[in-house]
Amino acid sequence: MLDNRYMPKYRFKSVCSITPADLKAMGAEGLLLDIDNTLIYDETLTPLPGTVEWVKKMQSANIPLAIVSNAIPLRVWAVAKKFGIKNYIYSAKKPRVDGLMKAAEMLQKPIDRLAMVGDQLKTDMLAANLAGAVAVFTDRARDEKLFKFYFKKARDGEKELLEEFERRKREK
Ligand SMILES: [Mg+2]
Repeated sequence: MLDNRYMPKYRFKSVCSITPADLKAMGAEGLLLDIDNTLIYDETLTPLPGTVEWVKKMQSANIPLAIVSNAIPLRVWAVAKKFGIKNYIYSAKKPRVDGLMKAAEMLQKPIDRLAMVGDQLKTDMLAANLAGAVAVFTDRARDEKLFKFYFKKARDGEKELLEEFERRKREK
């Protein structure tokens, strides 16, 4: 069954394709960022190509940003440090919205003025839609290497939802 709550509002190949002008067009004034497969390769501390520079570019454009991740404190802290991102939420339990709301408070922006960017429909996009943030999907850089069983379940149905997303986009 197709569930609109999983549906992104926008889709990009990579975070690096998102520009300050794109955010403006979305009505977004800041970014909430997933880390695994959005900023870094999953379960590593290795940035995806161009992401460190992209974060710097956003910061120079005065776009407030915060990490909202389900990962454990130490990993999130290490990634935040690597990227020079001061605001971060770990163990966010997305699709629960609490982490996104807390991050919005940190950035002092209403949640509907923030874009939640992530690579999973059933955590990142569902959380974004439930919280009222702009749901921005980025294609993952590679399939997850660890926790294959968990991700198989988490990603179940993604293909169909993304096909529907593309179909609706064509119809617009
Ligand atoms: Mg992710």
